[in-house]
Amino acid sequence: MIIIQLKPKKEESLQRFHPWVFSGAIHRIEGKPTEGDLVEVLDSNRNFLAIGHYQIGSIAVRVVSFDNVPVTDDFWSRKIQWAYAMRKSLGLVAPGNNNTYRLVHGEGDSLPGLIVDVYDETAVMQAHSIGMHEIREVLAKAIVANVPEVKNVYYKSETTLPFKAAIEPEDGYLIGAETAQLTALENGLKFHVDWLRGQKTGFFVDQRENRSLLERYSAGKSVLNMFCYTGGFSVYALRGNAKLVHSVDSSAKAIDLTDKNVEANYPNDPRHASFAEDAFKYLNNLHTLDQKYDLIILDPPAFAKHREALRNALKGYKRLNAKAFEQIKPGGILFTFSCSQVVSKEQFRLAVFSAAAESKRNVRILHQLSQPADHPINIYHPEGEYLKGLVLWVE
Ligand code: SAH
Repeated sequence: MIIIQLKPKKEESLQRFHPWVFSGAIHRIEGKPTEGDLVEVLDSNRNFLAIGHYQIGSIAVRVVSFDNVPVTDDFWSRKIQWAYAMRKSLGLVAPGNNNTYRLVHGEGDSLPGLIVDVYDETAVMQAHSIGMHEIREVLAKAIVANVPEVKNVYYKSETTLPFKAAIEPEDGYLIGAETAQLTALENGLKFHVDWLRGQKTGFFVDQRENRSLLERYSAGKSVLNMFCYTGGFSVYALRGNAKLVHSVDSSAKAIDLTDKNVEANYPNDPRHASFAEDAFKYLNNLHTLDQKYDLIILDPPAFAKHREALRNALKGYKRLNAKAFEQIKPGGILFTFSCSQVVSKEQFRLAVFSAAAESKRNVRILHQLSQPADHPINIYHPEGEYLKGLVLWVE
């Protein structure tokens, strides 16, 4: 195995089990690693620290083991086994009620660079590192071997791997083939998941618990699900006996998907309507009290994907939330989210605070929301925390 020796003092974060080696920490590389190779990381005194996947870039090594053990097919299989055991013990594997969950959440499952979402019999796998891309076949076999419900593995990494790498990932089935689409169940609700054409792996599994909370607050309310995508929040609001649910997304495809999902659960329900429109345009057009809502969900796409975009992202969150404060009915409830990893909980809360102050309305925080248990945060890798939400009472 190729050896990477660190500069003095640069071993500290690895000794605290942080799973990344930054390129600036490297003293020398012995041999010529190809991207995706397994490498052994040593401290400046040549003591063993970790084994990881090598890649060119600011994160040079993603650690897969802090123990000096052989990284065999069985090694990967055991990791998948652990990931599945956790989901099962959390009650997420519940055929007939819930078969939609995240099986592998990268660093959170000690598998940096790998995301796997399960939709009934199909696992959708995304590699974010070359190392995981290289072993995709091994991982697919490990998934089918350890997750009894899964028969098909679809690989979807064309857009998630670094474009500079000299590989051309192709999306497609590594095991099995396309099956009937309407089989994903989340808390008893049906969803069409289009992993071929949809965003990410086809569905935002990470909002499951926040959708359940929304259901509890929906009875008798008029609900606006802004940035609805697949209509997840809308379907839960309908089940929660909302008086009316309006779903808005700028993408016509998202609106089609929302309509299909509402139809699958509540056919011909006159309480639901959907609109393919820009968020600001829609919110600006609510003029009378009658047009305003009791409950608004704001779940926009990540405004900042990189640190440089942070300032503008915070302005964006402030502007969007200010609009919602302006347009929500007295005694309304706002569910507001940020999924930008570079925006911290504190920064997001500050942006929402500024928006509230601008609106001069009396606002109370009812809940502070995060990502669900199948998106665990490795305690040694706080960067894994990305989803933040606030539930607010607006007087
Ligand atoms: N709430 C959804 C996920 C939202 S993803 C869920 O629970 O699954 C973000 C969505 O915002 C995407 O569907 C995208 O089409 C939509 N979007 C992006 N920009 C928008 C804009 N300016 N106005 C309205 N929708 C927008």
